[in-house]
Amino acid sequence: MNCTKCKTKAVIGLPRHNAAFCKGCFNGFVHDQVARAIKSEWMFGKEAKILVAVSGGKDSLALWDILLKLGYKADALYVNLGIGAYSEQSHAKVTKFTESVAASHGATLHVHTVEQEAGAGIKELAQLIHRPTCSTCGTIKRYQFNRVAIEQQYDVMATGHNLDDEAARLLGNVLHWQEEYLDKQGPSLPASVAGFAKKVKPLYRLSERELAAYAVLNRIDYIVEECPMAKGSKMIQYKEVLNRLETESPGTKQTFYWGFLDKQSKKQPTATTMAEKDRAVLHPCTSCSQPTTAEVCSYCKMMARAKTVAPH
Ligand code: SF4
Ligand SMILES: [Zn+2]
Ligand SMILES: [Zn+2]
Repeated sequence: MNCTKCKTKAVIGLPRHNAAFCKGCFNGFVHDQVARAIKSEWMFGKEAKILVAVSGGKDSLALWDILLKLGYKADALYVNLGIGAYSEQSHAKVTKFTESVAASHGATLHVHTVEQEAGAGIKELAQLIHRPTCSTCGTIKRYQFNRVAIEQQYDVMATGHNLDDEAARLLGNVLHWQEEYLDKQGPSLPASVAGFAKKVKPLYRLSERELAAYAVLNRIDYIVEECPMAKGSKMIQYKEVLNRLETESPGTKQTFYWGFLDKQSKKQPTATTMAEKDRAVLHPCTSCSQPTTAEVCSYCKMMARAKTVAPH
């Protein structure tokens, strides 16, 4: 198998693009897909200050690597969830990448440790407040990323969601007809009100397999295991179904998700209408000032509850 572009020996075949690439041309292809995503979805300009949400997995570290190599100013935030060996290993991978790659581009890593603020790791915290672990985790991560982005004056927050993640999420939202989620499933969510950072997903044009290949070829050392809490999750089931379809007909995920984006772009309310809608229901939390629909935001409620029920 030879490279479609330069005809030397190829290292990866991409059936959905009907192409094969050598390492150099594959890196060029990946960088080009990210650059196209940034431009076509109006994500950010060359001078923007970007905060990348990193987990130690292949997608978020690859995203940080690609943005730095494309010449963007990108720092990162890692949230240590306190899930035993998984958190220790993922934290170590993030630190290693920061020291061996990101620091040479002048980039900084911010760290938030759940245990330090809540007095317990995510599993124990969720048990204390009687909420599912993943929804507790979602609230904490969303809150902390937004807090750091606003406090440290980043223009935009970038996450490593890839084509597989977005296609699986779309399948879940369609199967349950969750229209309010469908409306917000695009790769670029504007900062609708003061206090909310803009959020973007620059990897939505690249598949999980392509990102794993990018990480391996570029010697990015990442944590291979999924978070132990993800076991048996619906998202994993949707991904398996889509992988089966993709094997039979390459390009299925792309057609499904990109087709959705194409339809959304024709009916999407403008950024102004979305901002107007949000402004009507959001106001500052009386405890921390982050925008919320209630008097006190769900993060502050959670932390207050954890403090009252925590064993002393
Ligand atoms: S699977 Fe792990 S990282 Fe993902 S939401 Fe659940 S606890 Fe958080
Ligand atoms: Zn080539
Ligand atoms: Zn609050």
